[in-house]
Order: sequence, then structure tokens, then C-alpha cells
Amino acid sequence: MGTMHRYLTKTRFKVGHECPTKLYFYGKPEFGNNNSDSAFLHALAEGGFQVGELAKVYHEGGIQIETLDSEEAIKETAKHLKRKSVILYEAAIKFQDLFVRVDVLRKTDDVVELIEVKAKSFDPTEEDPFYNKRELKKGIKKIHSEWEPYLLDIAFQTHVVRGAFPKWKITSALMLADKSSEATVDGLNQLFSLETDSTGRTRAVANPKVKKTDLGVQVLTRVGVDEEVRLIFGQEFDGKSFSEYISCLSAAFTQDKMIAPLVGSRCKSCEYRIDNLKKQSGLKSGFETCWSHAAKFSTKDFERPLVLDVWNFRKSDNIIKNGRYFMDSLEEGDIEPRPRPGDAGLSNTERQWIQITAATKEGKRPYLDHAGLSAEILGWTFPLHFIDFETTMVAIPFNKGRKPYEQIAFQFSHHVFNADGTIEHKTEYINREQGKFPNFEFVRALRLALSNDSGTIFRYAAHENTVLTQIRHQLKNSSELDRQELIEWIESITKSCDDSIDKWEGKRNMVDLCDIIKRYYYHPETHGSNSIKKVLPAILGTSEFLQNKYSHPIYGATNSIQSKNFQDWSWIKKDAKGVVIDPYKLLPPIFSDLDLETMDSLITEGSLADGGAAMTAYARMQFTQMSEAERNRVSKALLRYCELDTFAMVMIYEYWRFEIESRQRKAA
Ligand code: SF4
Repeated sequence: MGTMHRYLTKTRFKVGHECPTKLYFYGKPEFGNNNSDSAFLHALAEGGFQVGELAKVYHEGGIQIETLDSEEAIKETAKHLKRKSVILYEAAIKFQDLFVRVDVLRKTDDVVELIEVKAKSFDPTEEDPFYNKRELKKGIKKIHSEWEPYLLDIAFQTHVVRGAFPKWKITSALMLADKSSEATVDGLNQLFSLETDSTGRTRAVANPKVKKTDLGVQVLTRVGVDEEVRLIFGQEFDGKSFSEYISCLSAAFTQDKMIAPLVGSRCKSCEYRIDNLKKQSGLKSGFETCWSHAAKFSTKDFERPLVLDVWNFRKSDNIIKNGRYFMDSLEEGDIEPRPRPGDAGLSNTERQWIQITAATKEGKRPYLDHAGLSAEILGWTFPLHFIDFETTMVAIPFNKGRKPYEQIAFQFSHHVFNADGTIEHKTEYINREQGKFPNFEFVRALRLALSNDSGTIFRYAAHENTVLTQIRHQLKNSSELDRQELIEWIESITKSCDDSIDKWEGKRNMVDLCDIIKRYYYHPETHGSNSIKKVLPAILGTSEFLQNKYSHPIYGATNSIQSKNFQDWSWIKKDAKGVVIDPYKLLPPIFSDLDLETMDSLITEGSLADGGAAMTAYARMQFTQMSEAERNRVSKALLRYCELDTFAMVMIYEYWRFEIESRQRKAA
């Protein structure tokens, strides 16, 4: 039987470095954790499992330390390390109460290389990629925050292995997805199929016949990081040396002692800040434990709006440090609302102040700038088009000629709102084929869908613009016969990104509905979030117009709203308390073992936050063995979700239109 020794591992060290108090909650089932499936789903969505296996094939001839039992793995590793020269995968090494499994360890005599494999993109042409450029200009070498977790991870491993084998000459490296490298073979991912064993552990299994020579040009690159590791060894962490810092975290974890919480803005997105639903299911909130302890919160205090939750508020840490925790303690002077320079609508500071007053002083009424929004709406041309994309970026390219982490656009949905008020779900696209590069077909289908008129096109947030500009770039480097036409069309509906060398703004440049919301609308129930998944339920809960209209099964009904995936559907259903149920929750789950919210909460970078579920579903379709029936079921579920994403935009538009017209009628 395996021992239950409480080792500080590299994952636990990472958690402890984010916030030392988290180590106390880590792994305790009584504390709810919003990230519980996070590492797994991230790896699944990005193809991280395959990266690990690919790295092993690149280091051919190694021995895998199979067992998951720490003590057994340590013994087995020690046995193999007696050899003069050996490559080990998942080598298990302990030092004091620290324990690591090294992805790839290469040993020749006493010269040992530790390689940590990461599904992270790396540009080998960039100068000083690991350092903060602004500090570097001042002559200071400071690790860039983007790279810190990866470099701390390998530094931790180096510390442990050095402690265990002081006589070894150790070098450290990261193995990363090389952004500049083009795959020279098709279907690399398919050589590593994902399998789930009897214990529920998912891993990629390389086709046993795969040889390094079958893999073409290497898409992972080994980057030596000895200099960065040395820098970390010489740095101070909370006033301690790196090794003292590790000992301190390790002692707390081994003895199961809670390190006193230092509450601040980082608590906002802490994984131990669980919602009421999780609490009602009996789980404890680590967040509440910390704030009761450090800020002496009573049970009632947790119901009060917190400074922490003011949208985009950089000063929150200082204010919290001074013991002001609640939004009602904020004054106008703390925010200093200033008008938006040279543009219509709310500035960020004005919006923050509206959030604070709506949460604390004026009850729960939404803010709507009728005049500003009416002026915007007047500039829009019918028919209105609402589009939404589902995309992904995977570490190992699916196809020959493609690079790691290139954008892949695999699905879109398209609704139309006509001048006569009729609505239709007009077009959709999905790629179901495994290993296909769908982007050019995707953009042709989109162009066809949007080229019948010159109506205004709406997107939600920057994502659709970013993706189209990336496809434009891919087209430029392609030999597609219609590439010039497609490039010109993309330019006609987009705007060049800030970092683009080519500059353009299309005549029919898409309107960002999220930006319109930020400037003219605020609903207190969104608690400062502008995600469409928060905005839509808030509006549906408020708008009697939408409630009346969509409580009838008119969606997908004959002679009513045309839909491609729904029939006689009512979007408004209420729970036992009469509260409108979030329409996303009315849809059947994409997978029975993962709910939408868990999947979406995982991929939180930028505008991809709302696409986590689709990315995960697509990854499963691409990477796992799936029957045709299951593939059909998943595609249908994806089509329904994406259709709701664009219909959500239609409903927001309808709600505004109704509010503005009602105001105009009253004024007349
Ligand atoms: S709530 Fe704050 S102090 Fe507590 S574990 Fe989370 S981040 Fe750390």
C-alpha cells in the first residue's frame, strides 16, 4: 500500500506560491474547489496530454516509472539511477519532505539534465523571452510574470534533485511548443490516443509503432533555463531565500498547519471562493474561513457587496489593506469618476461608480443610457447579423504546414434580425472531421452567410475580430486560389489589431455588443461581469417584455422564429420561487460527466472565457475514440449552445429596443 506522507510536490508548491493559505485547503474534500477539474480539462482542451508523450518519443529509449505510489516510484527510480547512462520518464525523487516526478531525466555519469515538458507556446526568435522587458531596459533581470510559474516549477525540481544528489552536475530545461516550427507530417495528435484507465486517470498513449523518425520536424523545443534557475535561487520570497521559502511551505503542509491568510484582491478569483449552491451542498468555503479569520467577517458580512468585486478596480488592494472591505465604505473620491475622453458612453471609472451605487444605494435597478444607446442604434443597418465563433488552439498541430497554438475556428452561429422585426437562425457551421484544418472552409461559409446585404454585423467582445485577423494571416501564407478575395472580405468586416503591422478598418467593421454594454448599460445582478453568460440571465430576470414573449414555445415554431436546432422551444422557464432559470441551464449537457459551468470556468483567459465548454468538447471529438452516435450527439449539443450564444445577443438587442421605444412612447 502506498504511504500517505504529506510531501510538498511541484503542484502543491505552485498552489502555496499563489497563496500560502491555500495549502491548508488543498486536497481536503470538505472544502469546495472551483478548479477541481481545471488541470485535467486544460490539458485536454490544449492537447497537453499528447505533448508529454511526444516529448518522450523525442527522447527515445527511456524507461517509464509507471507506478503512482510515491515510495515505490522512489525505489524504482533509485534502482535505474545506478546505471551509468539512462533516460527516465517520470523519475521520482525525494529530498526531506519534498517530492518531484521529473518529466524527462537524462543521466550520463554524474551529469544530469532535468526536463520539464509544458504545453505552452514559445517563440525561439524572441530575445530574452523569460524576462520582463521594461525592467530589462533598466538593467534589472526580473522573470516575466507569464513565465514565473513554469520557471519556479523547474527551479523547485532542481532544488529537490540537487538536495537528493549533491554530487550531480545538474542542468535544467523546459520543453515547449515551438511557435516557429511547422509540422511536416499530418495527424501528429492521432498518434497519441487518449485513454482513461480503471482508476479514472486519463493519459495519452503513444501508438507503439511510433518512432522519432515518423514525427518529422520537431514541434517541441528544448530551452535551457540554468540562468533563470540560478536567478530564482538568488531571489528573496517573502523575505526568505528560495530554499527557506520552500521549507516554510513544506513545514506548513506536512504538519497540516494553516498559514495565516493575507486577504486582498487575489481572493477575488480564489478557487476556494465557492457559490451558495456549493455551500448548500455541504461544502465549506475556504474564502469564508480566510475572511472570518483575517477580516473578522460575520456570516452576514458575506452577503454585503465587497470592494474586491468592483469591476476592473486597481486600487482595491490598498483600500482592503486599510480595513475597508465593503463597497458601501467607498466614496466618490476613491473612484474619481471621469468622463470618457472623446467618445460617447461611460468611462471605466463612471461604470465602477454606477456599480457601487447600484449595489449599495439605489437598489437593484439597471442603468440604461437611453440617449446614448438610441444614438448608437440609429447608426445600425438592417438586417442585423449576430455572429459567434467557437475556436481552439492546440499545442501539437493537427496538420502538416501548421504551427503549434495556431488559431483553429471550428464553429459559428449566425442569427438575423430583419427590419420587419422577424428573427431567424440563418446559418451555422461546424467541423466534425478529426484532424482537419477547417479555417478556410469556415471563412468561406461565413462570407457566404454575410454577403447577401450590407447589414450591421455584431460580435460579443474582441474574439471574432482577433480570429478573423489570424485567419487573414494564415491565408496570406497559403496557396488557396481564392485567398485574395477572402483576405479582402475579412478586411471589410474587421479592424486591424493594435500589434498588427498592416493597418485597416473595414467599411462594415463589426460592432462589439460587449463594448456597447460597457458604455451604455449596467445590470446590478451581473456584479460587474460583462460576460454574456451573466448579462443575459440578468436581463431576462428583469425584462417583462422578454419574459412574456419567450415563455411561449415560439422559438423554432412554424411561422415564428426559425431555428436550426430547436423546435417549439420556450426560453423562459421559472423555478419554484418564480425566478427565471438561466437559459443555458435548460440545455442538455454536452457530456454527462462534465457540466457546462465547470468547463466554462476553466478556460478563463481573455475572451475565451465563454468558450471553454466548446473547446473541451471539440478536443474530445478530436482526441478521443468516439462512436459515430456519440460524435453526432456532441455536435448537436455544440450547435445548440452556439445557437444560444447568438440568440442571447438578439435578446439583448430586443430588450434595449423595447426599453427605448417604451420611453419614446411615454415621452410622446
Ligand atoms: S481566500 Fe484569499 S487568503 Fe484565502 S486562500 Fe484564497 S487567496 Fe488565499
